[in-house]
Parts: sequence; structure tokens; C-alpha cells
Amino acid sequence: MRRPMVAGNWKMHGTRASVAELINGLSHLALPSGVDVAVFPPFLHINQVIDGLKGKSISVGAQNSAVESMQGALTGEVAPSQLVDAGCTFVLVGHSERRQMGEQDGMLIRKFAAAQACGLIPVLCIGETLEQREAGKTLEVVGRQLGSIIEELGVGAFANAVIAYEPVWAIGTGLTASPQQAQDVHAAIRAQLAAENSEVAQGVRLLYGGSVKAANAVELFGMPDIDGGLIGGASLNADEFGAICRAAGN
Ligand code: PEP
Repeated sequence: MRRPMVAGNWKMHGTRASVAELINGLSHLALPSGVDVAVFPPFLHINQVIDGLKGKSISVGAQNSAVESMQGALTGEVAPSQLVDAGCTFVLVGHSERRQMGEQDGMLIRKFAAAQACGLIPVLCIGETLEQREAGKTLEVVGRQLGSIIEELGVGAFANAVIAYEPVWAIGTGLTASPQQAQDVHAAIRAQLAAENSEVAQGVRLLYGGSVKAANAVELFGMPDIDGGLIGGASLNADEFGAICRAAGN
């Protein structure tokens, strides 16, 4: 049985004051014990969040990390080893908002490997644009994004990683993939992994992301290959985020 996970990607939002308010809201949530919950604040607020959530069952991750594991001369970057030192557990790799800024598969393979090399759990984000979906290329695109990691690092890399399927057209748009659309892609992702190693395929958590809210979470998370969600906008509201976490515990 895979343990569900709900992850909140705060993106480039927050001030010290608003983050303190969000931490306070998260601290008072009644979270289901059977669900792993994590938040991904901006780098600037990671220490504040880790301190503020001490003793709570909420993990912290980063939204990005460097291609090199260890600290060094890389201006403006943050090394995975520094994130581990700060107390992070997870890191997003290949969020579509970063792919749109030019991050490509080759760089993402290095980021994924660097993160794992120092014990961070990568959350690999994959997904197609609207144009690619309309051209019938969804599975080809997602298959290539996933396949690039499998080819370089081996399927075993997913024994300790999470995958988030996030159709680009559903991120921050209010459009959501239907539960069946999402399930179809999740099943294809799992089948691609299973072709290499069925144990890894059965164990890996596949999160859906793209305008998930409390109102649509139960239906999405009820699909057999959807093991939780990566939540953007709705994770900035503690009560809404809590309701989504409870939906994953149903
Ligand atoms: C995301 O940023 O990963 C995301 C899914 O955003 P939203 O929930 O706002 O669509």
C-alpha cells in the first residue's frame, strides 16, 4: 500500500509576516495520520518554516536546488547538501514553471542525482502543455521526461523519489484534468516504470497537480494510481490545504 502524500508548493509567495500567519494556520490543522504532508516555501523562508513547524508532522522541501550536491562557487544557487543541513526532506525537480524558463532534461537529470546523492527526496514534475495535449502527444511528452531520468540514473532511482504529474494547462489556471484524464496518465507513468521494475512501479507515489482544491480533491485522489497531490495556489490557505490533506486520507 502506498502512503498518500500532499505537498504544498508556495512558489514565489510570502513575506515574513504572511509566512508566520500560514505557519500558525498549519500548526493548528487536524491532519490525517495516514498522509505524508509537506510544504515547499521559497528558499528565503525555509528556516522560518522549519523552526515554526518543529514538532508538527509536516515536512519541508525546497522548490529547486543546484546541479551540484555540495556547496561551492555557484552564485545564486543553493546546494542540496545545504537544504539537508537546513532540515529539508524533499526538493521539487523540473516544475513546469522552471522548465518554461529553460531547464531541460539534461540539467534535471543532474539536479535529481545531486539531490539524491545527499539524501533529499526528489519530486520529479512532468506534464504536457495544452498544445501537446491537443496534438495527442501527452504520453509521448511525459514518457520522454520520465524516460530521460530512467535512462541516465536507472529505474532504481525511483525507489526513493516521488513523481508529480502536472499538466501545464491546469497549473494556476483553474482548469483541472478530469479524474479519468489524470488517472490515464498516471497509469501510463506506472506502466513505463513497471516495464523496467514492477516493485519500483508499485511503490512510487504519483501525485497529481493542477488546480487541486478541497472541492475536487476527493474525486481525484480516489483514482487508483493517484497517490495524492502537489498543490499550488490552494496551499497558501491553511484551512483549504488541511481539507485537501484530509481528502487524501479518505
Ligand atoms: C503547482 O504549482 O505545482 C500547482 C499545481 O499549482 P496550482 O495548484 O495553483 O495549479
